[in-house]
Amino acid sequence: MRQAFYERVRGELASIEEQGLTKPERVIVSRQGPEIQVRGADGHEKVVLNFCANNYLGLAGDERVTQAGVEASERWGAGTASVRFICGTLGIHKELEAAISAYLGFEDAILFAAAFDANGGVFEPLLGEDDAIVSDSLNHASIIDGVRLCKAKRYRFANSDMDELESQLKQARADGAKQIMIATDGAFSMDGYIAKLKDICDLADKYEALVMVDDCHATGFLGPQGRGSGAWNGVQDRIDIITGTFGKALGGAMGGFVCAKKEVVDLLRQRARPYLFSNALAPSVCGSSLEAIRIASGETGDGLRAKLFANAERFRTGMSQAGFKLLPGEHPIIPVMLGDAKLAGAMASKMLDKGIYVIGFSFPVVPRGLARIRTQMSAAHESGHIDRAVSAFTEVGRELGVI
Ligand SMILES: *Cc1c(COP(=O)(O)O)cnc(C)c1O
Repeated sequence: MRQAFYERVRGELASIEEQGLTKPERVIVSRQGPEIQVRGADGHEKVVLNFCANNYLGLAGDERVTQAGVEASERWGAGTASVRFICGTLGIHKELEAAISAYLGFEDAILFAAAFDANGGVFEPLLGEDDAIVSDSLNHASIIDGVRLCKAKRYRFANSDMDELESQLKQARADGAKQIMIATDGAFSMDGYIAKLKDICDLADKYEALVMVDDCHATGFLGPQGRGSGAWNGVQDRIDIITGTFGKALGGAMGGFVCAKKEVVDLLRQRARPYLFSNALAPSVCGSSLEAIRIASGETGDGLRAKLFANAERFRTGMSQAGFKLLPGEHPIIPVMLGDAKLAGAMASKMLDKGIYVIGFSFPVVPRGLARIRTQMSAAHESGHIDRAVSAFTEVGRELGVI
């Protein structure tokens, strides 16, 4: 019997491999940054340009952010060996909660080990079986899981389709929902599309719904002061709940948060299961994240954001002129559309040979037939880096008959 189980597991792996869907993990032997050192299959190490990190502001390998983590470790130790409510709430946790809620313009914030946990824990305590969640079809896996763990009735609308959102809101009202919460990513990670939050907030007002935004691919760099997709759309003050991560633009360490009104955060502290039953965030993570917020929210942040968007513009222009099919937009996520999963994998591998590190994305991360190379720009890239990437794409694209 048990042998059959292990055979089944091996069979599953073989089928993933056969479809060209295996996601290998390449080993990096340097700090994260625009230039990284990777270990090749032959054991050789080489320096390549990195275009696939969520390192939007370039703070992941930043010396100030790194040192702030080291100092926090020295001051507070490696960690608490406790959940928050027993003996795991350090001064630096309260400092980080105050900093992120002030930065994003909310009354309070609560920390989680990851944004995955924030999304996993945010719905269930707040909504019950008489309530409804109306969710965008392209929402992140962690929102989908969080919604599944909650007893509220589920409704879905096609990505950013405001007509369908409205009909789902009507349906939820007709079905007698007490509270309705619209849940959406602020920026959709596979496409780089930014949610139409102005329209969403208007519809939320019309149907008296709450708005929850997962701003993992926005906090730190979209909108004025990098306050996120709500700020980008001019509606930050109309959003009820924001979930986010310290694992992307805000330093790249790890850790998630929920920003909301005080009573909502208070209830999550009592009831959110990933918060109650999981260790407190490590002090080094808090220290690095605090320094990242300090940098992102100030004038240095404005400079980083200007450079980030100039880089995105330069890459989009170069790639479009070369004849590549990109998804439109302004976000520093820039998908190069290829269609076939094996083609995307082959292209990424040839790009690496030319010293450009990019990754092909295929099912189940994106729909079948819509495989792509998702590139991501960083403020730490120089224009020369962007130009090298465009010319490598052009050479490889011609070789593979993509352009
Ligand atoms: C990355 C991401 C997450 C998960 O964030 P972690 O802090 O790494 O768990 C959740 N939601 C979205 C939209 C993301 O892009």
